[in-house]
Amino acid sequence: MRKAKTWRIGFLFGLMVSQLCLIACSTQATIPTVSDDLVESLVRTEAARIISVSEDKQHLSEYHIFLSAFPRKDVLGMSVGNRRIYISHELAKLAAKRSFHLWLLRQTLAHEIAHETAGHARQSSGASFLRGPFARTMSSTDIGLPAYVTVRNYSAEKEFEADAQGLQYWTRLGWDCRIWVRILQSFEKQNYVGDGVHPTAERLRRAKAVCRTDDAV
Ligand SMILES: [Zn+2]
Repeated sequence: MRKAKTWRIGFLFGLMVSQLCLIACSTQATIPTVSDDLVESLVRTEAARIISVSEDKQHLSEYHIFLSAFPRKDVLGMSVGNRRIYISHELAKLAAKRSFHLWLLRQTLAHEIAHETAGHARQSSGASFLRGPFARTMSSTDIGLPAYVTVRNYSAEKEFEADAQGLQYWTRLGWDCRIWVRILQSFEKQNYVGDGVHPTAERLRRAKAVCRTDDAV
């Protein structure tokens, strides 16, 4: 019981998070970053492990991974193209302390790196504004940018593609895909439905289809 309780406490942050990946459209805009040597080292080490099994393994030195204190707390990571990725400082801090959040960080990094290796930021046709039943307004101020900057989201298909590719990186690293599934299940258990381009139920369905193990369901 105590273990279950600790697990639940571990989800206090998970309750608030999803994986929103956005492209900041204005090249002039600079997303505010946070300097935190201790957790930056953890994030870069984990990112390097994933990049080393990706299509970008020859381009490791070109990656720039930043920490950002996104004003909107359910933003975990963001890929903006040119191998630049922003990771939530809050998530990184928790990952240094808790196993669940370390795996959530690994999932987020794998997903964001997959956006980069696929070149999603360069494919403007796939970008779209939020639509659908879970649509809500994402403003530039949510990610610490000035109000005049426009942000746009990757399409849901690109999000699913990043999940699928990210899971492949996990497999190449020998990381258990059931953990990826369980993270999405935790979102579902907390009634976190996601949003128009990150519907938890569909992400979970697709992850389970790839990760066919009996106790993943
Ligand atoms: Zn994404």
